Amino acid sequence: MANRVFNFNPGPSTIPLDVLKIIQEELIDYRGTGMSIIESSHRSPEFDEVNNQAMALAKEILGLGDNYKVLFMTGGASSQFAYIPLNFLNDGQVGAYVDTGTWSTKAIKEAQIIGNMHLAGSTKDDGYTFVPKPADISYPDNTAYLHVTSNNTIKGTQFHQFPDTGEVPLICDMSSDIASRKIDYSKFSLIYAGAQKNLGPAGVTLVVIKEDLLAKCKEGLPSMFNYQTYAAKNSLYNTPPSFGIYVMKLVFEWIMNQGGLEAVEKVNMAKKDTIYGMIDKYPDYFKGTVKPDSRSWMNITMRLPNEDLEKKLIADAKAAGFVGLKGHRSVGGVRVSVYNAMPLEGATKLAEFMETFMNANQ
Ligand SMILES: *Cc1c(COP(=O)(O)O)cnc(C)c1O
Repeated sequence: MANRVFNFNPGPSTIPLDVLKIIQEELIDYRGTGMSIIESSHRSPEFDEVNNQAMALAKEILGLGDNYKVLFMTGGASSQFAYIPLNFLNDGQVGAYVDTGTWSTKAIKEAQIIGNMHLAGSTKDDGYTFVPKPADISYPDNTAYLHVTSNNTIKGTQFHQFPDTGEVPLICDMSSDIASRKIDYSKFSLIYAGAQKNLGPAGVTLVVIKEDLLAKCKEGLPSMFNYQTYAAKNSLYNTPPSFGIYVMKLVFEWIMNQGGLEAVEKVNMAKKDTIYGMIDKYPDYFKGTVKPDSRSWMNITMRLPNEDLEKKLIADAKAAGFVGLKGHRSVGGVRVSVYNAMPLEGATKLAEFMETFMNANQ
């Protein structure tokens, strides 16, 4: 695999090489069918098996029981911003939101189009450099749900502790850190994630939803905008994003082959320690942009002493085979995205590159 680079793109992002090889191998003739899975009917036994396996693996990996349903949807995480208030935010209630940056802000905007929003916590005034502590999140009695963004892909922060919401459903946008660490996923009544960061290609959105929340979907919604439609039809009400589901299944199998979330978490921990190690060793050169206790394990953000150095680092890194390090256009700087599929070797070699770059560019 001579031409593969270390791909630090924030999304769409790197996919395990083992998975790409299986796709390549199966693309011409999927298991003796004489066609690829993306040319097969979504009603075929072959696709049905893929669909069911992907759902079962999602639950197994996240440690969720039979009281959860797995849905495969389209429209990205951004459509979920609207689906959630459409389905669960009734008159006389508020949707409670924690604002921790760009993506939560967008979720809030959609909620405000549909109903009443309560700001349950925000770090906007601090430039989103950290996430609120559970004790600093509050909402009134008429709260339909509390929405949080577990990992802030652009700002480089992440929740390491989630609030206990009791009877209030906790809903989480996990687009950029799902299945990256062992947490209690059963704390959440609904989790959603666009696949293109940790799970596969763009085009499919994973949703896991607890049955008791599913029962609360509003009446009178158009079919494609009601979670119950997807649940009732095994996500096959209309033609699903079959390629994405197929790749997601392969990624789940890859996770299981690594040893599940425990093993994946260990590698992710080593990767983030390696890169934050540079920030902690040379804080005047690699300037971390977030508070240490809110550091993201997935998207590591930093500034260099000036913008010219940032540009040079990004260009030199690219020439050396480390791609995708440019910070989001809204914040600038350097962002190192180390999703599940980035091997430890990528982080280790990048850290070496960073140190060498620093020594050569004072
Ligand atoms: C990338 C991202 C989104 C947007 O996802 P789309 O699939 O492009 O709609 C939303 N939330 C978070 C946390 C993200 O990282």
